[in-house]
Amino acid sequence: MHLMNTYGRLPVAFARGEGVWVWDTEGRKYLDALTGIAVSGLGHAHPRVVAAISEQAGRLIHASNLYRIPEQEQLADRLSAVSAMDRVFFCNSGCEANEAAIKLARLHGHHKGIEQPVIIVMEKAFHGRTMATLSATGSRKVQAGFEPLLSGFVRVPYDDRKVIEHVAEHNPNVVAVLVEPIQGEGGVNIPDDGYLPYLRQLCDAHGWLLMLDEVQSGMGRTGRWFAHQWTGIAPDVMTLAKGLGNGLPIGACLARGEAADVFTPGKHGSTFGGNPLACAAALATLGAIADDGLLDNATRIGNEIRDGLAAALAGEKAVRAIRGRGLMIGIELDRPCGELVTQGLAAGLLINVTADSVVRLLPPLVMQSPEATLLVQRLSELIRAFVRTNEPAAVAG
Ligand SMILES: *Cc1c(COP(=O)(O)O)cnc(C)c1O
Repeated sequence: MHLMNTYGRLPVAFARGEGVWVWDTEGRKYLDALTGIAVSGLGHAHPRVVAAISEQAGRLIHASNLYRIPEQEQLADRLSAVSAMDRVFFCNSGCEANEAAIKLARLHGHHKGIEQPVIIVMEKAFHGRTMATLSATGSRKVQAGFEPLLSGFVRVPYDDRKVIEHVAEHNPNVVAVLVEPIQGEGGVNIPDDGYLPYLRQLCDAHGWLLMLDEVQSGMGRTGRWFAHQWTGIAPDVMTLAKGLGNGLPIGACLARGEAADVFTPGKHGSTFGGNPLACAAALATLGAIADDGLLDNATRIGNEIRDGLAAALAGEKAVRAIRGRGLMIGIELDRPCGELVTQGLAAGLLINVTADSVVRLLPPLVMQSPEATLLVQRLSELIRAFVRTNEPAAVAG
């Protein structure tokens, strides 16, 4: 085995997929309620995406950003049309999209004469694994061993107003706030309805950029194109990746207004970013989400799953909360429950556990009611069996 030891991998490998289903190399079938962590929103082997990728691969896979790339221009137009954003920079992943946002905020600060720009970030945030994005991430697990971290970040509690107001009063170097509209890795944490509008006001009052990391919550996941669209506010900068290409690696940093004009030639770039193949996949993904009514479907099926779980797990004291929006769902238990992932596999179900004790579901946006019912059945059985056999005191945290 010559792979670097970066993942504690489960002992299963997948050979093929179709819609909400995947089959392993032994031919066993699984209901995919994770989609490779919010990547395959249209499910597996979606005909429209497969056709777009095949057609583009046969024509032109790569073109350098030294030249115009029509597929990239078209994708930027489509993304602007479904958001309030003016311009897009394409890269290959979520951390790269956030790197672009962080560089943009710093450059914007320098343009304003702030030589040591500071970005406000959140406790329990996750923004990626590069040096800048792990420094912005609010998890010691992610940072430990990689010091010295990048400076230029100030951390405040998520969904809290007191501490950030204190920072606003005392730190004249702040240029931006970087925040997830719903925290994914942090435990599917949904802030108060007024929180994003409050941050918008605070940013406007101080001339800060509001930068939303929608890498996980974007691309229809919550039942709107982007999670912040539930609140009626618009960010200055937004980052995307995961679901954008339905599995083809692509990320994007979008900007609006003044922020859209910060980068000029030579300030940022990427060899692969926004190449024709990745853009063809993303265009097909956006097309299918719009044409197949998948935003409304995500809302409807998400409600069915949450209601179903609430009914099936009613009276289970170990279940602290069932929360989510659309198909971004967390079930918080009163104890660490990482074992549920392996037990799910054995039961033919792909799920995830994050923040130690939160079962996370990120099902495909194409899921239908019968599959949602099956998901609720299998998962509620697993959780009930798990809490019966695992007392909280018996599991070390
Ligand atoms: C997954 C994720 C990232 C990192 O994306 P990569 O493609 O793994 O670099 C950043 N932010 C959020 C909110 C994420 O969920």
